[in-house]
Amino acid sequence: MTRIDQPWLTDTATQTVCAALTVEGAQALFVGGCVRNALLDQPVSDLDIATDAQPETVIALAKRAGIRAVPTGIDHGTVTLIEHGVPFEVTTFRRDVLTDGRRAVVAYSTDIAEDARRRDFTMNAIYARPDGEIVDPLGGLADLNARRVRFIGNGENRIREDYLRSLRYFRFHAWYGDPQAGIDPEALAAISANLDGLAQLSRERVGSEVLKLLGARDPALSVAAMRQSGVLAQILPGSDDRALAILVHLEGEAPTNPIRRLVALGDPEIAKDLRLSKQQFTELRMLREAAVGSQGAAELGYKLGHDHARDAMLLRAALMEQPISPEVETDIALGAGATFPVSARDLMPEMTGPELGRALKSLERTWIDSGFTLDRDQLVGTLG
Ligand code: ATP
Ligand code: MG
Repeated sequence: MTRIDQPWLTDTATQTVCAALTVEGAQALFVGGCVRNALLDQPVSDLDIATDAQPETVIALAKRAGIRAVPTGIDHGTVTLIEHGVPFEVTTFRRDVLTDGRRAVVAYSTDIAEDARRRDFTMNAIYARPDGEIVDPLGGLADLNARRVRFIGNGENRIREDYLRSLRYFRFHAWYGDPQAGIDPEALAAISANLDGLAQLSRERVGSEVLKLLGARDPALSVAAMRQSGVLAQILPGSDDRALAILVHLEGEAPTNPIRRLVALGDPEIAKDLRLSKQQFTELRMLREAAVGSQGAAELGYKLGHDHARDAMLLRAALMEQPISPEVETDIALGAGATFPVSARDLMPEMTGPELGRALKSLERTWIDSGFTLDRDQLVGTLG
């Protein structure tokens, strides 16, 4: 029998929630990412629980145990229980009854196999009881062990129910698929045959999926497959993924940053429909401008700080398909550690207002061009 043994599972909050849900005989099983990742010994982001109790019962059971219940997705049977500050998304077993290609309409069920069949991939339909015992109605464990992302049921039908599944396929392949095995030709064919439906998806869902995909350690093969299948042109028109694999290679073990990967795919314009946050879009534009510009590594270090300067230099090398030169790191550190030695006070009261601003700008330029070597007196001296 397969079991998972994880700190989050034996945690008091988890066990309190599971005990509350099962006190009258209902089932409570973990499912989705938390079980999949536990089996792979990878970090777990959110905790999803499936239950045969109806949502009103979930709320009542939680109240009785003093657990906060928030009906976060009551339309599709989800109640979030919060215990010790930890959220648990509890969703009643469901079966899909009808679909418009964007959102499945659902009916509740008491059958775990039905609940499993409405999910997307076999590796996402593995369940774990509160004691860690695995329940695997569709053979997802074998696929997970083989690192095989497999649609539940007929891929083409499942895509037509919800076109986001095409994008999720690439995402899960990038994160959990076997890179050596490549992408299943049948799944790719099903995806290619259903490109039109992607246009129906909300931009938020597409944007969030693209960022999750680009956050994988190495998304390059999945993105290449997206290009070959026609998906990339559909969701990111004007993009070009040639630099992505090089970027990933140059990044080495650096923490992944989906925005940096997005910069490698093209002009910020390509991302205008992805509903990025303001902060993400600002980072995207700033990195792209720095990467395709001609400012040296030290100047970028000074202006953007060490991390962003490094991102920009990696991107520049990737876009030019060139190796990164060994001095880059030293140059960035030099610029990032430099402080402009002249302040407004040094030029006052002789100068004021816009004139003062222009003089400071020009001295800063002279200082940068000197390789950050000129000191305050030398710089003020240049004003004559
Ligand atoms: P993550 O690590 O990103 O949280 P996850 O597998 O938990 O991965 P979620 O988006 O949190 O993904 O969804 C939870 C579960 O719900 C999935 O594992 C899957 O079983 C099911 N699911 C989510 N989205 C879909 C979908 N579009 N179609 C079918 N099933 C889905
Ligand atoms: Mg999840």
